[in-house]
Amino acid sequence: MTRLLHRSIHTPPRHAVSAQGLRFTDSEGHQYIDASGGAAVSCLGHAHPDVIAALHDQLDRLAYAHTGFFTTDVAEELAETLIADAPDGLSHVYLLSGGSEAIEAALKMARQYFTETGQPQRRHIIARRQSYHGNTLGALATGGNEWRRAQFKPLLMEAHHIAPCFAYREQHEGETDTDYAARAAGELEAKILELGADTVAAFVAEPVVGATAGAVPAVGDYFKRIRAICDKYGVLLILDEVMCGMGRTGSLYACEQDGISPDLLTIAKGLGGGYQPIGATLLSAKIYEAFAQGSGFFQHGHTYMGHPMAAAAGLAVQKVIRRDNLLANVQAMGAELRTQLHAAFGQHAHVGDIRGKGLFQAIELVADRQTKAPFDPAHKLHARIKSEALARGLMVYPMGGTIDGVRGDHVLLAPPFIVTPSDVTEIVGRLSEAVDAALQS
Ligand code: PLP
Repeated sequence: MTRLLHRSIHTPPRHAVSAQGLRFTDSEGHQYIDASGGAAVSCLGHAHPDVIAALHDQLDRLAYAHTGFFTTDVAEELAETLIADAPDGLSHVYLLSGGSEAIEAALKMARQYFTETGQPQRRHIIARRQSYHGNTLGALATGGNEWRRAQFKPLLMEAHHIAPCFAYREQHEGETDTDYAARAAGELEAKILELGADTVAAFVAEPVVGATAGAVPAVGDYFKRIRAICDKYGVLLILDEVMCGMGRTGSLYACEQDGISPDLLTIAKGLGGGYQPIGATLLSAKIYEAFAQGSGFFQHGHTYMGHPMAAAAGLAVQKVIRRDNLLANVQAMGAELRTQLHAAFGQHAHVGDIRGKGLFQAIELVADRQTKAPFDPAHKLHARIKSEALARGLMVYPMGGTIDGVRGDHVLLAPPFIVTPSDVTEIVGRLSEAVDAALQS
């Protein structure tokens, strides 16, 4: 009997009682290796002593202060720390409680930027199909995941979607990366012109697509082209690094590897590593100055924004990542994970693609490798893999179903940055067994 409304009412989740490093223990004493950081959240693993100490210290001094009255040392220091390493041009940080809130704030900042600068006709938001930006209504409207949106459509604001840059599914046979990047980015220019260039406020994209498509990086100079198109038409570029940011792909910000800077950038999951709910929207000096020299106000806010406990967690996590040079481990273990995934699944009859960056990797399952045909969504292969993996003491993040007739089931791996080569071997070995068991079920 439970009074909690679980996401899946007929299959309530297992009952976690503790976790240490990469390992969870449930109420029946079973252990699970956390190969997905929950949903790419736990970047330091569980029960990290430095984060626990920082949280104790903050709780003793100050648990909560409303940002309408006070700022705090931890919130200020976290903003300094984030901006010190942020992509060029980003100058300020707006602290929130999660990824969806960060996206909502970014959308409103984009809109307010144009009302402050005398372009109130700019209202359109363009995003990509096969993207996920969160479950609150603005974020849901922006995302391109049809399954998540379908029944809520009557409540959603208008948003426009173009094709993602998804080589496995959308690059033509024989098409070079350069040509494909140009074709995919060209969709943005076409959409801007269709809507009317001076009516578009922002384009939103995940540098590496996470939950909806499974660790899909862009190819070639796609994002450089996107940046140039946004600049050409005065459209703001919002990059959503809620899942792929904060070191997950091997650089602190994923867009560093694309060689571009956005006007607005959202982060969350790895920011606080799961120790507290926290998200943030980073904004450029251009947007900050428009607000500062205009109304002097950003018309938004939440009760728990800038929460001192959340800021303390975020600051402690970010300090450990830098002090322990964990990005080097993300790069090394990311390469190890990729090598082992190729060894285990490279020739597998039902694995069509292995992709990702750093410790953000995925395999895509297909019914037929030749035609890339996905499994029937009704078979729910992803759910079978999840339960076979859990039965083998492994937490991975499978997603599935077919959207726009192209996407198959995939399994996302996003282990904590402290993962070791022997952990990787254990993860890939268990995943391999789980996939084969699920395919036979
Ligand atoms: N944006 C991206 C890219 C995400 O992956 C997610 C969550 O998975 C969100 C936004 C929403 O974040 P939250 O679940 O913290 O609201």
